[in-house]
Amino acid sequence: MNLSTTVNADERINPLDVARTQFDQAVPFLGDVFDTPGMEELLFEPERSVVVHLPVLMDDGHIQIFTGFRVLHDHSRGPGKGGIRYFPTVDRDEVTALATWMTWKCALVDIPFGGAKGGISCDARSLSRREKARLTRRFITALGDNIGPYTDIPAPDMYTDEQTMAWVYDTYTMTHPGTNNLPVVTGKPLNLGGSVGRSTATAQGGVYVLAHFIELGGLPDMETLEGATVAIQGFGNAGRHAAHLLSDAGCVIVAVSDSKGGIYDPNGLDINRVMTHKDETGSVIDFVGVKQLDPGEVLEVPCDVLVPAAMENTLTRDNVDAVDTKVVLELANGPTTPEADAALDARGIPVLPDILANAGGVTVSYFEWVQNLDNEQWEEHVVQEKLRNKMHRATEQVVTKRAALRDAIDRYREEWADAHPDDGQVETPTLRTAAYVVAIGRCALATQQRGIWP
Ligand code: NAD
Repeated sequence: MNLSTTVNADERINPLDVARTQFDQAVPFLGDVFDTPGMEELLFEPERSVVVHLPVLMDDGHIQIFTGFRVLHDHSRGPGKGGIRYFPTVDRDEVTALATWMTWKCALVDIPFGGAKGGISCDARSLSRREKARLTRRFITALGDNIGPYTDIPAPDMYTDEQTMAWVYDTYTMTHPGTNNLPVVTGKPLNLGGSVGRSTATAQGGVYVLAHFIELGGLPDMETLEGATVAIQGFGNAGRHAAHLLSDAGCVIVAVSDSKGGIYDPNGLDINRVMTHKDETGSVIDFVGVKQLDPGEVLEVPCDVLVPAAMENTLTRDNVDAVDTKVVLELANGPTTPEADAALDARGIPVLPDILANAGGVTVSYFEWVQNLDNEQWEEHVVQEKLRNKMHRATEQVVTKRAALRDAIDRYREEWADAHPDDGQVETPTLRTAAYVVAIGRCALATQQRGIWP
């Protein structure tokens, strides 16, 4: 199966256009921040884009050339931070969009990193383990000093995992001997400087955000997660752990999917058995006794919480009207197009945006980096308490910022309507726009405080 065509077979929405639209939607609310002409472009444009061509000796003896990318978007608040993905759709625009999202995400949860991202255009599922190791080592060697413990720190993303990060570390440290290089990459195995709680962090952070959003009264129909029905698209690191953690929190997981298809049972799936089935067969499909779904159908099943946890642009204008949920928890990066976002907002369905909902991963990556710098290993309860605090604080700041923006807009709207009786409505800011306003504001302030070199 061609992974690049499993979603949006009829449209390829450029993630960088989505990232720009999201940025532009926040700009009108940033007032003084863009006082200096050119500041807007400075904050949106990437600082550095590296493209490398990677010859790899394949198991059958032929040489294949892969193309890899690393983009450092912004380092105003600290070194670049962002995952490496191996996926057919990877190109410069996709990696740049993902790098901008990392900048806003790190700023929103207030960790001292900027944004970066990397990737190689390939179908990772067709590579053997040895081919994947050679590809990774060649990539890291080619990147050279474009990554480093104090400059740009990779992590896992789609179709890369802790084993991949172990190869990243080994390659970097073999070429930079004589110093502690553990902080050059996060998401490493526990035995090799990884942090307790990193593998579940993205999903766990999302669960903390969702639960706290409910506590703050964000979903008037829901007082607790207990009994809430959940549908999850994607059953990798983010989706699989979300299924497990939400099930532990008392939710009923009614549907899950992966790239091959989905499964649905309105009475709830036995998630432990689904995990075993996935491990044994490579997919959730063909799990017995439940309804089988096409990959996209999981987004349309009736549920209280919809969790896109696969890839970008899965909620689009073509399927958004069929969405039947009370809230969207974006564990994937960029799963909702601006048109789908507007449609969900018009229907009163809040979207907990990716830069908040999936920020648990980079937050525990930051904890791993701190532990590596100190040669320390924190206990699980320490990691969880720090993670929960970070996610709760960021959720409160987004909710508070949206309320403040809405108040301001309501006042402004009356003045506007009086002055322009025939013009359209002023747009009401969403949770995403509020999150962007907080995050961009922090990066802009850091940039102003540092000044423009020289
Ligand atoms: P992964 O490689 O572990 O899993 C990806 C999953 O998506 C797999 O189950 C795959 O089968 C599924 N998938 C692929 N194409 C699909 C399709 N067309 N329909 C349905 N499912 C499909 O990747 P991951 O790390 O879980 O990342 C998933 C998303 O979460 C990505 O958008 C990633 O950027 C984001 N994310 C991941 C992390 C992290 O720590 N891993 C952190 C933040 C955000």
